Amino acid sequence: MEVIRTIPVKLDVPTERRADLRRTVEQFTYAENYTVKHGRNSDGYFILNKARLHDELYYNLREETDLPSNLCIRAYSKALDAIKTTVADWKVGIKSSVPEFREPSAVYDKRTLTIKDRSATLSTINGRVSVDYVIGDYQRSYLNDDSYERRMGTLHYREDEDRYYLHIVLVKEVEERGGNRILGVDLNLKNVAVTSTGTFYDGGTILWGKNHYFRVRRSLQDKGTRSAKQALSRLSGRENRFVLDRLHTISRRIIEEARTNKCSYIAVERLTDIRDRIWSRDDRVNRQLQQWAFRELQDMIAYKAAEYGIRVQKIAPEYTSQTCSKCSYQSSTNRDSSTGWFECSECGYSVDGDYNAAKNIGKRLLTLPEGKRPSGLGDGHLALKSGTVNGNGEYVPHDPEGSTDQESHAQA
Ligand SMILES: [Zn+2]
Repeated sequence: MEVIRTIPVKLDVPTERRADLRRTVEQFTYAENYTVKHGRNSDGYFILNKARLHDELYYNLREETDLPSNLCIRAYSKALDAIKTTVADWKVGIKSSVPEFREPSAVYDKRTLTIKDRSATLSTINGRVSVDYVIGDYQRSYLNDDSYERRMGTLHYREDEDRYYLHIVLVKEVEERGGNRILGVDLNLKNVAVTSTGTFYDGGTILWGKNHYFRVRRSLQDKGTRSAKQALSRLSGRENRFVLDRLHTISRRIIEEARTNKCSYIAVERLTDIRDRIWSRDDRVNRQLQQWAFRELQDMIAYKAAEYGIRVQKIAPEYTSQTCSKCSYQSSTNRDSSTGWFECSECGYSVDGDYNAAKNIGKRLLTLPEGKRPSGLGDGHLALKSGTVNGNGEYVPHDPEGSTDQESHAQA
């Protein structure tokens, strides 16, 4: 399996070539928006087939821009990915707007970009441009690591700094961890994360705490229509780093939890579904902020897990919060939505609601039908606090003397 990391590298661009880079990212962005506007059938519907889109647009893009062939292809491909995401949203009734590309950037691959240890060369509208990196320890450690292949990159122009950045995509092949044990993880607003092994990553009040929340909120309001992510990336201050640090700690602890419990799989909910389940519906800014944080957290869990050969599987979470993880009885009355406490009206099982959900999320992966389940999972087991349980509900304790299935609290 692959570990994929994206490393942002600040660039030192020769003054006389800055205009070439500028026009390249501007024309790339123009080509993306051109694709959204013109990559359509005569009835106005989007063309979703790449080969057909190529036939429809490629020669126009070559004529409309000075971009080299490969950058034209990358531009319509990137636009097509965004269009497909939007169309998928529409199909399930989510009102996404038509993609619009604003940030000047361009996608490069091996044909248009040569990545060296401390410099790179990029294709532009006016031949190749050589740039030097301005790097710190973090970037250096990755660029010096020979186990990573430098696969591609994205050139970004940051207007507020008047600077270019190259986001280098690094890929490493890692052997998949053997075994068939699963850790279920519930992401939620109250605890941030809870595992099926009963660990609570209590960072909620810190992560969504007043100071951070109000600072970010004001900044978002000042910036009007900008997305939360863009606004947060522009905060660049203590708060942003503080939240990211917190998320790094939580994701690292979750991976440690998986390794301690000998898990080869981590089951999490698909984010689109989390959005519908737990987001506060009344506050758009708050929702954007939480969505951003959860997406960051999932990304961190995914790449940190991959470094140990642990696979992260996303599952559909319908009813995971109102189903009993002991007897499988499902009812909306099982969970008290004001306290978050779960009490099964069938078997009486009484437990923290997010902990119950974490176990259900893991079980959901265990009981996926043949063909949908990961091929290596076989007869899998879900890791619990005191033992494991399989898809048929057969429980095996760690310790026959019987420690109880209780929860522990970790201060993340
Ligand atoms: Zn029950």
